[in-house]
Amino acid sequence: MSEPSNTPTQSNFIRDIMIADRESNKHGGTVRTRFPPEPNGYLHLGHAKSICLNFGLAAEFGGTTNLRFDDTNPAREEQEYVDSIIDNVRWLGFQWDKALFASDYFEQLYQWAVQLIKQGQAFVCDLPAEEMRKYRGTLTEPGTHSPYRDRSIEENLDLFARMRAGEFPDGARTLRAKIDMASPNLNMRDPVMYRILHAHHHRTGDDWCIYPMYDYAHGQSDSIEGITHSICTLEFEDHRPLYDWFVEQLGIHHPQQIEFDRLNLTYTVLSKRKLLQLVTEGHVRGWDDPRMPTLSGIRRRGYTPEALRSFCGVIGVGKTNGINELGLLEHYVREDLNKRVNRVMAVLRPVKVVIENYPDDTVELLEAVNNPEDAAAGSRTVPFSKVIYIEQDDFREVPPKQFYRLSPGKEVRLRWGFFITCTGVVKNDAGEVVELRATYDPASRGGNSPDGRKVKATIHWVSAAHAIDAEVRVYETLFSKENPNQVPEGGDFLDNINPNSLEVLTGCKLEPALVGSVPGDKVQFERLGYFCVDNDSTPGNLVFNRTVALRDSYAKIEKREQGK
Ligand code: ATP
Ligand code: MG
Repeated sequence: MSEPSNTPTQSNFIRDIMIADRESNKHGGTVRTRFPPEPNGYLHLGHAKSICLNFGLAAEFGGTTNLRFDDTNPAREEQEYVDSIIDNVRWLGFQWDKALFASDYFEQLYQWAVQLIKQGQAFVCDLPAEEMRKYRGTLTEPGTHSPYRDRSIEENLDLFARMRAGEFPDGARTLRAKIDMASPNLNMRDPVMYRILHAHHHRTGDDWCIYPMYDYAHGQSDSIEGITHSICTLEFEDHRPLYDWFVEQLGIHHPQQIEFDRLNLTYTVLSKRKLLQLVTEGHVRGWDDPRMPTLSGIRRRGYTPEALRSFCGVIGVGKTNGINELGLLEHYVREDLNKRVNRVMAVLRPVKVVIENYPDDTVELLEAVNNPEDAAAGSRTVPFSKVIYIEQDDFREVPPKQFYRLSPGKEVRLRWGFFITCTGVVKNDAGEVVELRATYDPASRGGNSPDGRKVKATIHWVSAAHAIDAEVRVYETLFSKENPNQVPEGGDFLDNINPNSLEVLTGCKLEPALVGSVPGDKVQFERLGYFCVDNDSTPGNLVFNRTVALRDSYAKIEKREQGK
């Protein structure tokens, strides 16, 4: 596992709180955090922000982080999700202290609920959900007391035990905290702690037919684990008084809840509900579709954990929700891959070029540098022969102005190879160019000009006799709107799906150096972008994903801003 060295180190308000707490010796100077996903979907880029923050800060202060599955809602949770989360957190480069499940605390949570009943701070309520809503009041009007609020402690204990024993159907009763129906914070108006749900749980099976609500389970789970700083996203800010209330009334260890801004990204949806919909309705090929913003998806796409950690490090944390540029994330992906992956040549939309003055049966091995950014990556040889492929795009029969690549009578350099001049074209009956003719200058071997004459373009190529065939999947953003969540009245985020998000190219021609590539291998196809071998590959049929194109508009913007 790679060492997560590029986790957030810049100053942020959560870090400042931890520093102050250590100085005042609160929690004995320790830092203990947790990452608490609900196993009801795959982790996405937003979760990566939370993971980097929780694990990064704890590590910085010599503390530890638990991976806690917040599995209190049996209806939506599955083992598949647990497995993928474990896999994803590891991939991102973090090691938890303990992997735990909120469901392991069900008995303790039940006992604490009994304690609150005995303290006169919880009651069994028979109001159906609809009625309970009416009693709750509004933001401007106080609520009214439930008619069941003043049940005796004995009756409450009896009914709660019978709820647990399965005597009542789903929804018949709830256990509620007795707090303040006039509180301006609606979360404090006698919130539900337990509901009846005769549902099979992925871990506790049929042991329980009452399940704790998030607000009741979360803080107590943190408390059990001795969490010091319970970091969560801003929507829980209004829940903090309730979080505090439970641990205070129970007289147990009191972690501090701290809220930060959720990650939002342009051209991306980061809501598990919406991601689930994309999967179940078949808009993508699965949770790990390379267009998905899930960690499984971007991993398959070829993003690296290092790039993701760098991104999470620079975006920082704040107190107001905003939106980050997808381009910034791509910038860090390029920056990381640029340093470490080899360059090779691949022709995605091939057209044949026959080099008329090249001997028929000769093959030359040309020297090619693997990575100009990394001398240790060494070099390889690339075979050259009479028939090669070049990119259709690199030829124009009638070149527009400033088109410096190949056209009749024009000379270009073949990367690592020779200068060639186009001498003619072969067309089919439909008048389309199907083959090019050229001559080469043997004195230009290695791409050097023999007599100082200049060519304006260098293009990539692959020897036809040596090329290996591959499928290449080229992606665009899954959504065509910068903010896909923004939809007109009556619209749906699905309306913003980009119909061109996937282009499958077959019959692509790759340099033979790529033979034996295995899923996960990453390369740069010269001039085209970064690519990685997809899981769908078989030994005889390689499939590549385009991770990201080469053009880094973000770097240009940065340079412009710096006046370079
Ligand atoms: P969603 O809203 O996508 O369903 P969630 O918040 O319900 O996500 P959880 O599994 O409950 O997902 O989240 C686990 C942790 O990850 C929580 O602490 C949550 O605050 C955090 N988290 C979820 N989404 C984001 C995000 N977009 N940015 C930062 N943190 C996030
Ligand atoms: Mg959630």
